[in-house]
Amino acid sequence: MTSSEIRQKFLNFFESKSHDIVASAPIVIKNDPTLMFTNAGMNQFKEYFLGQRKVETKRIADTQKCLRVSGKHNDLEEVGIDTYHHTMFEMLGNWSFGDYFKKEAIAWAWELLTEVFKIDKKDLYVTVFEGSEDENLAFDQEAYDCWAKLIDKDRIINGNKKDNFWEMGAQGPCGPCSEIHVDIRSEEEKAKISGKDLVNNDHPQVVEIWNLVFMEFNRKADGKLEKLPAKHVDTGMGFERLCTVLQKKKSNYDTDVFQPLIREIEAVTDFKYGKNAETDIAIRVIADHVRAVAFSIADGQLPSNTGAGYVIRRILRRAIRYGYTFLNKKEPFIFQLAQVLSDQMGSSFPELTDQKRLIQIVIKEEENAFLKTLEQGLVILDQIVQNNKGKIVSGKKCFELYDTYGFPLDLTALILREKGLSFDEADFHNEMQKQKERSRSAASIDADDWVILIHDQEEEFIGYDYLKTNVRITRYRKVSSKKDGTWYQLVFNLTPFYPEGGGQMGDKGYLQAANGDVFYILDTKKENNLILHYSKTLPTELHQTFLAVVDDRNRLAVTCNHSATHLLHQGLRTILGDHVAQKGSAVYARNLRFDFSHFSKVTDQELKEVENFVNARINEKLDLVEQRNIPIQVAEEQGAMMLFGEKYGDTVRTIKFGKSIELCGGTHVKNTGDIWYFKITSESAVAAGIRRIEAVTNEIVKDYFLAQDNEFSELKSLLKNPSDTKQAVLKLQEENAALKKEVEKLIQEKANSLKTDLLSKIEKLNGVNFLATNIEMDAGTIKNMAFELGDQISNLFFINGSKNDGKAFLTIYISKNLTEEKSLNAGTIVRELGKYIQGGGGGQSFFATAGGKNPEGIAKALSKAKSYLV
Ligand code: ATP
Ligand code: MG
Repeated sequence: MTSSEIRQKFLNFFESKSHDIVASAPIVIKNDPTLMFTNAGMNQFKEYFLGQRKVETKRIADTQKCLRVSGKHNDLEEVGIDTYHHTMFEMLGNWSFGDYFKKEAIAWAWELLTEVFKIDKKDLYVTVFEGSEDENLAFDQEAYDCWAKLIDKDRIINGNKKDNFWEMGAQGPCGPCSEIHVDIRSEEEKAKISGKDLVNNDHPQVVEIWNLVFMEFNRKADGKLEKLPAKHVDTGMGFERLCTVLQKKKSNYDTDVFQPLIREIEAVTDFKYGKNAETDIAIRVIADHVRAVAFSIADGQLPSNTGAGYVIRRILRRAIRYGYTFLNKKEPFIFQLAQVLSDQMGSSFPELTDQKRLIQIVIKEEENAFLKTLEQGLVILDQIVQNNKGKIVSGKKCFELYDTYGFPLDLTALILREKGLSFDEADFHNEMQKQKERSRSAASIDADDWVILIHDQEEEFIGYDYLKTNVRITRYRKVSSKKDGTWYQLVFNLTPFYPEGGGQMGDKGYLQAANGDVFYILDTKKENNLILHYSKTLPTELHQTFLAVVDDRNRLAVTCNHSATHLLHQGLRTILGDHVAQKGSAVYARNLRFDFSHFSKVTDQELKEVENFVNARINEKLDLVEQRNIPIQVAEEQGAMMLFGEKYGDTVRTIKFGKSIELCGGTHVKNTGDIWYFKITSESAVAAGIRRIEAVTNEIVKDYFLAQDNEFSELKSLLKNPSDTKQAVLKLQEENAALKKEVEKLIQEKANSLKTDLLSKIEKLNGVNFLATNIEMDAGTIKNMAFELGDQISNLFFINGSKNDGKAFLTIYISKNLTEEKSLNAGTIVRELGKYIQGGGGGQSFFATAGGKNPEGIAKALSKAKSYLV
């Protein structure tokens, strides 16, 4: 059975059990400060479990792209070393939101594995939660009873809290779980030791494939468990592991999920898989990591120096490093794998095909940069080794190499080992710890638990239509960080405040209490589906009605920039072509920033055309046509622009101005005429294949033009207010050119008179015209003069010694015929004379120069020169 068939069978099975099949959420998470990447199928449903969002469909199944490289679930260091943990993998899952519970979840999992996929029951083991005294959690009798009806009792294993109580992170929904493990060893191996003893023991062929989690609790910030409003089922099955079992392989890398990639790596590196343990690990690391990186780029996360981008960069660097060290690849090659990946997975994940070119360019650029870093790092490491006394190298130095240059520690260790050295590990880790504390204390945010004032109140956003309304506070919590101090996050029953999202900044404004007290809202953000209003202070009387007012000037400025961003997007696609895809946007009150894929610099001419295009749409005074809550298919049919890596619901909002139509949740002007004018202020590169345009609109354009006008006035006054400024500048340039010519002429004249002077100083020595001088001019002039003298005077030996800035310079010119007839070599002579001025130099046999730090030695050098001729 191929992997595609396996995926499809899973989905069909749950469809037949009345589940809705939904698309995978993006792998990169926005709007959730607790998670950077999707690490489990349940992430996108978290709010259903917490009761923060109303459940519309009670049964769902899907395959979810997951990445486990940071936070609570981090498998990075295992990947490639073992054969069943990946960075990026697909998790097949089925969910019940307050609907069916343990009985059905267990029975269906069993039916799918043993009847549909026909896995031999003798190879299966299951675990149930044994309970935990310190948290007062009981043995999961219910799950045990369900299993006891399906499987031999001695195949049911009790598991502890570590293995059988699933938690998404330090906070959030959790509950007891029941896992299914498969023994894929040979019959011979099975006879030696029972699979039961190998469950949960890190055996590569007795692995967990499916985890059925029964969500009943929420882990709060203080570590306490509280009961969830309803009971849910959340299951996750490792797709690649399932393929290994069903395709009767011993490793995930032997399935058709990874084989095409491995074949391609073999082709580009000339190393065969399965021949050597060390190179096999390298090949697995690369085959795995290219998937993680390609999927993340396709979802809009480019490698960078911070946050999620940095995690991606580190994954890619790990792959490059394995290629460099074990597969001898000193040139970029990982980018080439994007083709195979898109051929193989593009039908299930079309973003890999649509974004292929960008994925290739970005990976290649990263490879080039990191390979350079590796080369530089090798040189620095060499210096460290040379300056080191003894067998142990300073851990601090190795840390600097790691921290400042990004040079990987294990490569440092490997190179040192090859030279019979090691480094001070304690010292290294000490430095690492110090650095971690520095960054943690700056970034970490502590959040208290929510204080609920009004229960079961969904927050409604009314900010498209109103900027002012009466509200009640439904919940609040205190958050604090070293950087920003203490804040309160307030949630209302309804709100006119737009929360930061879709690139648009959050609204500012204030809350007014009945007694007139004012509480400023300094920012608005979204966390999952809650709109959080940030305030530095908390009203003492919380149970009252407040007037919530949005800062309308700020909102208008942001709104103009957002609508202009849509027109800019349309303009870029019209003028540069359809390959332009939005890669990031930031809409502020002061300006807008738009990042997009394009593979060369946007020329001045093109920028002008884009700017004209947008201003033409503004002048057409196009009305906003807004559709709220239309089915996503309808929007798609209307040709609405959608972004990769964005999570859209079943119903969406579209924003249309003329022919520009986009899915968008932002705020927009009622008519493009409100934008007044659009001006591009800069164009630059952000990364390989990604350009950035910054622009201003409305009031800020006026500021911009005023500033330009001021600058122009200043220039004019510097030019003494001419009637025609352009003419005045041209005249200035002309004058400048004429003066330059004049100066050159004067210098030439001076040189000529000097030459006549010099001719009188020539000494005749054994048929050679010897001339020693102390002319103090720049090196170029002296060189010119030497050659001119050489043209005029035959058999010339010319030497000049000059000083400048406390340094000494020698120039030697020898007529070509002399270099042969008398075996004179200016290069050799200048090197020898260089000693007198404490320096060195060189050149050709007829012309050479030297520099040194001792001008006192010039006279000696000149007189010594004569000795070559007598
Ligand atoms: P393990 O103990 O093997 O690391 P886990 O307990 O971390 O697994 P869960 O969080 O329960 O796994 O995830 C559900 C399923 O996803 C697992 O049963 C497994 O099949 C799969 N899975 C988990 N981590 C990975 C990974 N890094 N690569 C591939 N599949 C994975
Ligand atoms: Mg794990």
